[in-house]
Amino acid sequence: MIETTDIDLIGMLRSRIRNIPDFPVKGIQFKDITPLMADPVTLDLTSRLLRKPFNGQRVDIVVGLEARGFYFGPRLAADLLAGFVPVRKPNKLPSKIISASYELEYGSDSLEMHADAIPKNANVVIHDDLIATGGTAMAATKLIEKAGAHVVGYSFILGLEELQGVGRLNQGALISTLIKL
Ligand code: AMP
Repeated sequence: MIETTDIDLIGMLRSRIRNIPDFPVKGIQFKDITPLMADPVTLDLTSRLLRKPFNGQRVDIVVGLEARGFYFGPRLAADLLAGFVPVRKPNKLPSKIISASYELEYGSDSLEMHADAIPKNANVVIHDDLIATGGTAMAATKLIEKAGAHVVGYSFILGLEELQGVGRLNQGALISTLIKL
């Protein structure tokens, strides 16, 4: 797990998160991680801290959620000696897909994954940049379970605590959020 000595490091990461008011729509404060990635120190540190809670765990696949789960997901996978699988918005993947839908504030959306991307019974960690309501991560969980695999962990850089998204996830899994906001 993240240790007390990591708290200063988390502070460094936190200082590289940029708040953009009213993006993409009025009333949303967008958490922009591009400054964190542009700095070589925090870029590397983020990957190291993302990996840490999963050291010693058997992880076969890291699933990254479109789009910002694609920034750190492949390195997290490589660090854990796991494969990387993208979960995408509709109509982006070229081969046979499976899909899962989820509710948005207004209406619904769905996520897709290649049907043959994950072996049955694989141990999967879901990675995204941020968890808000948890709806996206829950839909990804459904998708992975549909494929016959197990979600053993969740990995987020940022968590918007007041929305309590973590409470909607599989509670038996290891849930890691580096920066709680
Ligand atoms: P949710 O499904 O509500 O947990 O929302 C998480 C997804 O929406 C993630 O893929 C995030 O990248 C994105 N997201 C939600 N809220 C924000 C925010 N305030 N800033 C940046 N990305 C966000």
